Amino acid sequence: ELTLPRPRRRRVITVSNQKGGVGKTTTTVNIGVALALSGLNVLVIDLDPQGNTSTALGAVRIAGTPSIYDVLLGEISIAEAVQTCPDAPRLGCVPATIDLAGAEIELVNMSEREFRLRGAIEAIDGDFDYVLIDCPPSLGLLTINAMVAAAEVMIPIQCEYYALEGLGQLLGNIERIKQHLNPTLAVSTILLTMYDARTKLAEAVADEVRKHFGDTVLKTLIPRSVKVSEAPSYGQSVITYDPGSRGATSYLDAAKEIAHRGAKEQKA
Ligand code: ADP
Ligand code: MG
Repeated sequence: ELTLPRPRRRRVITVSNQKGGVGKTTTTVNIGVALALSGLNVLVIDLDPQGNTSTALGAVRIAGTPSIYDVLLGEISIAEAVQTCPDAPRLGCVPATIDLAGAEIELVNMSEREFRLRGAIEAIDGDFDYVLIDCPPSLGLLTINAMVAAAEVMIPIQCEYYALEGLGQLLGNIERIKQHLNPTLAVSTILLTMYDARTKLAEAVADEVRKHFGDTVLKTLIPRSVKVSEAPSYGQSVITYDPGSRGATSYLDAAKEIAHRGAKEQKA
């Protein structure tokens, strides 16, 4: 039942873009479920206080639930906070509760403040093939923790006007983190989301992004689709909510590309 290559080493991928509403959460959820349904073991970490990833994966996130906040504070391990996703038994989710909203400030005075998530992930002794981290729409300490913990950044870009705005700032930040905190960090994947084939604009944005970033951009485009936006309200990914929909098949294709590329790079 393993239908995608298993990476030799665990791949830690942070899904980042400081713009809100570009598809970070949707991408984390659906790529996570796609990989898990392909037989791989996946851990999804919700690092956004809004907790939309946790909700979409059917995780409990009421106040007092063990969460990524407790992990960052060093009070519990990831294993103690992980919940199994009802959609995909191979997928574990570390939820975000409302507590996380204060973490950005609380972390400032802590020791090793940029390395807390990295330490927690390194301490996992489970056999996760993939760890996906969903970031909040900011470049603060939570996002820095994610970029220090990961080897790869995946950037979702919405095929809309202003899509490239703020991208320079994001790339500058990644470069600074690479120089000072995590020398092995790299942008491995760019995913074009909410593509509307009926508009010339979406096509122009996609062309522009491909011109700038070449092969880093996945061939698969995620179409704009109502099914994709409906699924989270049922606590589901679009892949389980409507498996035959274009949204579902395109996220499955994107996951396939990610898995095959990674296998190639790790061999090289
Ligand atoms: P972010 O995490 O970057 O803020 P989200 O993944 O939450 O972005 O997406 C923002 C909004 O757009 C959500 O309401 C989501 O359901 C919707 N959305 C995301 N991807 C698609 C898509 N391919 N088609 C239609 N709606 C989408
Ligand atoms: Mg989000």
